[in-house]
This record gives sequence, structure tokens and C-alpha cells, in this order.
Amino acid sequence: MKVLVINSGSSSIKYQLLDMDTDTVLVNGLVERIGDEKGDLTNKAFPGTDKQVVTKMVQPIPDHNTGMRLAIELIAHPEKGVISDMSEIGAVGHRVVHGGEDFHQPTIITDEVIAAIEANVPLAPLHNPANLDGIRVAMELFPGVPQVAVFDTAFHQTIPAHAYMYALPYELYEKDRVRRYGFHGTSHKFVAGECARILDKNLGDLNCITVHLGNGCSMTAVENGKSVDTSLGMTPLEGLVMGTRSGDVDPAIHTFLSRNKGMDIEAIDTMLNKESGLKGLCGMNDMRDIHDAIEKGNELAKLALDVQTYRNRKYIGAYMAVLGRVDAIVFTAGIGENDDIVRRESVKGLECFGVKIDAEVNAQRAKEPLKISTDDSSVAVWVIPTNEELAIARETKNILQ
Ligand code: AMP
Repeated sequence: MKVLVINSGSSSIKYQLLDMDTDTVLVNGLVERIGDEKGDLTNKAFPGTDKQVVTKMVQPIPDHNTGMRLAIELIAHPEKGVISDMSEIGAVGHRVVHGGEDFHQPTIITDEVIAAIEANVPLAPLHNPANLDGIRVAMELFPGVPQVAVFDTAFHQTIPAHAYMYALPYELYEKDRVRRYGFHGTSHKFVAGECARILDKNLGDLNCITVHLGNGCSMTAVENGKSVDTSLGMTPLEGLVMGTRSGDVDPAIHTFLSRNKGMDIEAIDTMLNKESGLKGLCGMNDMRDIHDAIEKGNELAKLALDVQTYRNRKYIGAYMAVLGRVDAIVFTAGIGENDDIVRRESVKGLECFGVKIDAEVNAQRAKEPLKISTDDSSVAVWVIPTNEELAIARETKNILQ
């Protein structure tokens, strides 16, 4: 079975075609700058082992429909593509950011599901409308092919009320569903599953802390295979220090900024989401640039690294207290998979809780899962690459079977 995975953003579409009989990627593509004067499309097709056909296009791509049509033409192109007919695509899996309290698992898309995703737009005003664009286009282009929504929030629907409630007037929850939802759920679930497989445990018996550090960052406490707490909140702003997002701040800072700096709520929102985090502290949001700057003696870059890794450590400690027994800590995503310094600093001082990493192994780079803890560490520490597209394709296949 071949599954097309679509991650539709406001001005971009990421897509992958996967062969689910072999778990291999057949096509990996990105349409960018939809709606701009000039759009970009990059399509990488893998028609056979060690063979790659890259096609780049620069042309106006006025809307998602045009972008997806161009991608599909390339996927089925006689020379540049990998399939001879669109009917080979057995299902389409969509990443949907916010399923609110309506979705606890991946769901076959119907009119009711679309209406429910729409009803959750107030909780994710930037993401859900873009995800819906992708769904509508795919439904038009692949009539009769099952479409499945895989929600970023679904894995976290097992979080108990004492962890998802904010201590605000209760009616805000009752009437407006103000609560923690959590995100990156597909990634946390995937690496927790991989961790159980590697440790030869049933997922239902595994307690672990999954640490997703990419441009967006979040941490999840997984108890007996289920999410019981996570650092992102009602929106993807709370918790860890991210590339451009602040993570936790005193909520009274909003009031301070409004009263003393005359900032309106839109300006504050933009600042917290786009001008804060690593970028806010040192002007750079890519960890590779931050390390280069630290080597040249940039003190603010060092501060940004310290603020991020200290916050990671604080959350790991908190989730150890939440879980009691921790079998493993799992680092994943762009920073988590590649940055040994961030990993080292994030578990520094946790030896007294049984977390010991091997500096030499930690410094290694691997595309495969890597155990970086010492043999006498009572908590195993692993680097496990995430693969959200494969996870979405697997969920899509599973729900249809
Ligand atoms: P993601 O959102 O998972 O794609 O992660 C993207 C982020 O990972 C980038 O913004 C970088 O900060 C970070 N990153 C990617 N590669 C490396 C690397 N080799 N070393 C350190 N950080 C990296």
C-alpha cells in the first residue's frame, strides 16, 4: 500500500509518498511560498535503491490546489516520478495540528470531521485553516481515496485533568475549552514506541521522558505508554525555550508590557511567538549558528544555550517526579538528534537521580538510535530519530486496516 502524507501550512505543503509494505520513502517534496510572486517546488523521487531524481521548479503557485497538482504531476511523471498511475495511492494521511478534545486518535475524514477541525480553529488559528486547505485539495484531487487526519494533540488526550487544567476560573474550561492540549504528539508517540521496541518492552509497560528539541521544543512524560503530561499548552507556546518562541514566562509580563510599553495584544503575541526564545536572547534561532557564535566568544549566544538547557533540565527533573520510575529519557528532532552539547547540558547534575551519560558516545553522530547513557546509569538515555511522516503513514494504514 502506498500512502501520501501531506503537511499543509499556510504558505507551504510538505509531502511524502511512502511504500508501507517496505516502510520506504518514494517521494519527498516541498512546495513553498504559495501565494507569493514566485513559488518554489522541490520534488525528490527515489525510484530505486541509490537512485534519486531531484526536480526543482520556480514559478507562481497561487494556491494550495496549484501546488498540490504540480506535485502530483511530478509524482506520476514518466521520467521524474515513481508511479505510473495515481490509482496506486491507496490513502492520504494529513497532519492536523489541533484536534481539541474531539480527537483521541487518527480519524478517517468525513464532513463531520472537517466540521470538528473547523470548530477547533480558534485554538489554532494559524494551523488548522492551512491543514484544512490541504485536506480539501486532496479530497478534490483524489476522489474516493480514503483520507485520514492525524492530530498533533491526540496522543496527549490521556493527560489527566490535574495536569491539563490551568488554575483559572473553571468556566473558561467549560465554555471555551481553555486547557493544556500539548503538541508534537505524533513525534512523542513515535519515539516512545521506538524506545519500547529497542528496550524489548511492551509500550504499555514503558515509563519514559521524550524530549523533542527542534525549532519547536516540547517534552512529554509517558507513563505505561501514555502521555500523562507535556510541556506545550493550549497553544504551542508554553514550556521549553524554542527557536523563536519564549516557552514559560510569567503571565503578568503581558500586563507589564501593555501598561508600561504600550504594546497591544497582537504585538505581544508576535513578540512571544516570533521574536523570543533563542532568537530573542541572542538574535539567532539555529543552534548551529549559536555554537559557532559561542566559539567566537559571543556571550549572549552562550546565555541562550544556558537558558534553553537549564529549562530542559528543570522539566526533566519535574517529569521524573511525575513518573517516579523512569526507564528512559529519549532525545529527538533537529537539536535532540544532532547536538551533543545540548544533550549533555540538559542532563547535567542529574547523576544523583541515576542519569549518567557517556561523554564519548554522546559525541557520536548516528542516523540510527544510539544509547548515550553509561551501563551503570539506572535511567537509559537514548537518541532516537523521529519520523513524523512515517508515523502519520503508519497511523493512516493502521486505521484503514
Ligand atoms: P526540526 O524542527 O526538528 O527540523 O529542527 C530544526 C533545528 O534543529 C534547527 O533550527 C537547528 O537549530 C537544529 N539543528 C539541525 N541540525 C543541527 C545540528 N547538526 N547541530 C545542532 N543543531 C541542529
